[in-house]
Amino acid sequence: MLGASDLRGEAEARRHAGIGASYLTREMLRTEFGIDRAGAILSHDNLALDPRKLTSGLFLQALKRKARCYVPAEAIAIEDDRSGVTVATGQGPTIRARHLVLTTGYELLDAVPARGHSIISTWAIATPPQPRKIWPRAAMIWEASDPYLYIRATADGRVICGGEDEDFTDEQRRNALTSKKAIVLAKKLGRVFPKLDTTIEFAWSGSFGSTITGLPIIGSLPGRPRVHAVMGYGGNGIVFSQIASELVSTSIAGKKDTDAALFAFKA
Ligand SMILES: Cc1cc2nc3c(=O)[nH]c(=O)nc-3n(C[C@H](O)[C@H](O)[C@H](O)COP(=O)(O)OP(=O)(O)OC[C@H]3O[C@@H](n4cnc5c(N)ncnc54)[C@H](O)[C@@H]3O)c2cc1C
Repeated sequence: MLGASDLRGEAEARRHAGIGASYLTREMLRTEFGIDRAGAILSHDNLALDPRKLTSGLFLQALKRKARCYVPAEAIAIEDDRSGVTVATGQGPTIRARHLVLTTGYELLDAVPARGHSIISTWAIATPPQPRKIWPRAAMIWEASDPYLYIRATADGRVICGGEDEDFTDEQRRNALTSKKAIVLAKKLGRVFPKLDTTIEFAWSGSFGSTITGLPIIGSLPGRPRVHAVMGYGGNGIVFSQIASELVSTSIAGKKDTDAALFAFKA
């Protein structure tokens, strides 16, 4: 777990890099948020959104701009040449385009090099709605411990708490662990906020595709300039997908982004 001096150093490093961050002492953390920990970093300008609404909105915008949508369609084979890319879909049409962007989440197609990429399992719980018991500003909380813990509130006052990651992907093994993991998460939540109702109303698990560096991999596949992929978002899909949209569109436009090498596939 990061101690008080580590957190203070991290807050300073963030400010130095131009990212707003305030360090909270134990006393400030207790009075402002009712949390009993050695210290914390308070970050600003964070964002919570409904992923389903966001995705529908993006699709509608794309359709307005004359994008064509093929649903359902599983991409099963990709062939690229100097002028474009052809994608064969299972039981669907064959699609031809000048460029292809693979955004298949943690499910990587065979064509995509998986080096440096791994898939892990994660768990989360949701409590019943309790809007009156939510901490000030419903700040999103991330405990910098190993394993980490995150806590956030929904618009109707449920508390979501997650973490307890494990380094495997087997679905049956993952599902079998859900009730045990849910109890651990509820206990940890109760230790941070003893007055909360930690009844587990929902419990679920998911997969993270992540990388050794913690940065996603974004770029064209080695030797295939018309096939781009974005993968390994970890728990930061919203932030990284914005970066991916800039890098990939710049690359398709035939221009160079100064940050491209940071995220590119390594040879
Ligand atoms: C528990 C949990 C909590 C998270 N919390 C946050 C958070 O707080 N903030 C945040 O920013 N991110 C968070 N994330 C990460 C975020 O959810 C992901 O980064 C994001 O969903 C990835 O989006 P994507 O569109 O790249 O992939 P996905 O959402 O995985 O979508 C990929 C799609 O591609 C389809 N597909 C796969 N293969 C093929 C194929 N061959 N042909 C056709 N379609 C195919 C899949 O069916 C799927 O619909 C969290 C993730 C988890 C698991």
